[in-house]
Amino acid sequence: MRPVSPEAATRLTERIEEELRASYGDARKPRLDPLDELILTILSQNTSDVNRDRAWANLQESYAGWDEVRAKGREPLEQTIRSAGLATQKSETILRVLEALGKKGVPSLDHLRDLPDDRALDYLTSIKGVGTKTAACVLCFSLGRPVMPVDTHVHRLAKRLGLVPPNASPEKAHEILNEIVAPDLRFSLHIQLIRHGRSTCRARRPECGRCEIAGICPRVGVNGD
Ligand code: SF4
Repeated sequence: MRPVSPEAATRLTERIEEELRASYGDARKPRLDPLDELILTILSQNTSDVNRDRAWANLQESYAGWDEVRAKGREPLEQTIRSAGLATQKSETILRVLEALGKKGVPSLDHLRDLPDDRALDYLTSIKGVGTKTAACVLCFSLGRPVMPVDTHVHRLAKRLGLVPPNASPEKAHEILNEIVAPDLRFSLHIQLIRHGRSTCRARRPECGRCEIAGICPRVGVNGD
């Protein structure tokens, strides 16, 4: 059952964050340059961290910089990032990003540092192939902004925990979570929900019997979504 008021929802998110942090430890993530973070996030779509990291390492070894990636074009890029899967689609998106950002010189997202959160999100999502989650990752992880990305784990757990309606789209979940979660908890709760979604509250057969937050979950015993 969804909390009846925004205040109750906020308190629930605080409790979930606290209990998961007690179990998994503090949230940490290395801070990258915003353009690096954007491209890393594009690589991470629909693949494992291991495959994403392999593609990222290949990129770092094969090119001197984003300018060179742009200049050499799609075929070599596609080969370089093949381990991340969807290599054609991802290389097209990466090149589109580099084209859009490199019109006045070396591709860069440094200008985002001077924009407020909503304008930075609008700017990033105006690039074809860059969705709300990807843009939110750049703001949250690279720029340290209080924007909570909603990936597949966060989306699933937010629905199971009654933080968003069961039929909420990822975009709707983004909107709701970024209203009800306190700004200083958005990064941590994102990381904790991903940890919990990977280890316990998996998409299929979640392990409710050993779940740290079963006491506050309305879907104990759920089998799928
Ligand atoms: S009780 Fe089950 S469904 Fe609820 S959060 Fe825990 S693992 Fe997920």
